[in-house]
Amino acid sequence: MIISGAGLSAESGIKTFRDHDGLWENYDVMQVCSTQGWEADRDLVTSFYNARRKDLEDKEPNDAHIALARLEKKYPNKIYNLTQNVDNLLEKAGCKEVIHLHGTLTDLRCESCDHVWDVGYSSQAEDETCPRCESTEVRHNVVMFGEAAPAYSKIYEAISNSQLLIAIGTSGQVIDIVPIASEFKHSILVNPKREEHMSSFGIHNNYIDEHFEHFLQKGAGEAVNDMMDLIEEFMDA
Ligand SMILES: [Zn+2]
Repeated sequence: MIISGAGLSAESGIKTFRDHDGLWENYDVMQVCSTQGWEADRDLVTSFYNARRKDLEDKEPNDAHIALARLEKKYPNKIYNLTQNVDNLLEKAGCKEVIHLHGTLTDLRCESCDHVWDVGYSSQAEDETCPRCESTEVRHNVVMFGEAAPAYSKIYEAISNSQLLIAIGTSGQVIDIVPIASEFKHSILVNPKREEHMSSFGIHNNYIDEHFEHFLQKGAGEAVNDMMDLIEEFMDA
């Protein structure tokens, strides 16, 4: 079970709302990432996601994305590849089976019939309609604060069916990975900062060592070789 967060894509130049101190290119972060903001001004939120989609176009996967694609190929049907990232860099690296826990930037979604379709890097038009039911109630496909994330059910499915947890570049601030890690005998945490985790949980200093079998204190790209060695050693045992 792989679960990744912003740290996986950081080295590819993808920023997240956490990198922005309340303001993102003059957009109020809470407004564009919350259901209240969406209800208050749909045009503003749509223009924000249109800009994010455009930003994504020239971004390239890094060594860590490419390594995860290699794993999927080497161990078909044996890997749950869950990500909190809404970018498409895992797919660009060649992954076919990515579970996007917080939605996808390159898709739009129909609020009437729930149909999701790929728009690539294009902007959502003012008169955008659903290709399936022709509704004009169309929105971006990113999960906002204040709404359900249906893909979270996959977390539980992955926990029950996996023997090794690999957490990459996730601070644990949105999805608490400690209780997830406690379900596993074998686990790897890849994160450049130790403090980030401690501060988010406020637990004593040793908690990473207690809950994770291996801690690679590095950025995702930098940790790739060590991470792959550990994974392959486990999978081939
Ligand atoms: Zn529809």
